[in-house]
Amino acid sequence: MVGKVRIGQGIDVHAFEAGDFVTLAGLKIPHTQGLKAHSDGDVVLHALSDALLGALALGDIGQHFPDTDDAFKGVDSRILLKKVYQLVGEQGYHLGNADITVACERPKLAKHNLAMRQSIADVLGVDVSQIGMKATTTEQLGFTGRQEGILATATVLIFAN
Ligand code: MG
Repeated sequence: MVGKVRIGQGIDVHAFEAGDFVTLAGLKIPHTQGLKAHSDGDVVLHALSDALLGALALGDIGQHFPDTDDAFKGVDSRILLKKVYQLVGEQGYHLGNADITVACERPKLAKHNLAMRQSIADVLGVDVSQIGMKATTTEQLGFTGRQEGILATATVLIFAN
């Protein structure tokens, strides 16, 4: 793989549907709606997984874990992230840091921020200081503003071992 340092970015969106919690960063967060998905709809972990794959030009999670495969129906996205990070390790790289932004009006995420960062750090086996997490509203504009869904983006820097 060319480059001692590589960068990746990922983005994911899931629509709301009837439910009483959303899964973000592997945590069940109470909400007045759920997220529609073949998996658990964890936009945070999907964006992060795509960023890690993108850093090594390894495609995207849709290719690695197709939503046509029943093996991934309702799957805990922490399992997918762990598999992706194993691939990163097999290529001889480790995470420098990740920076994640979640866009939604609701649920409010500030009180869950540290727990979400720690959850990701635990999956990857890294320090919580390597995982940045921010939440923003979109000022009631667009699909996130209309509370039709949640969007997450992630950027990662990885280093050759
Ligand atoms: Mg997704």
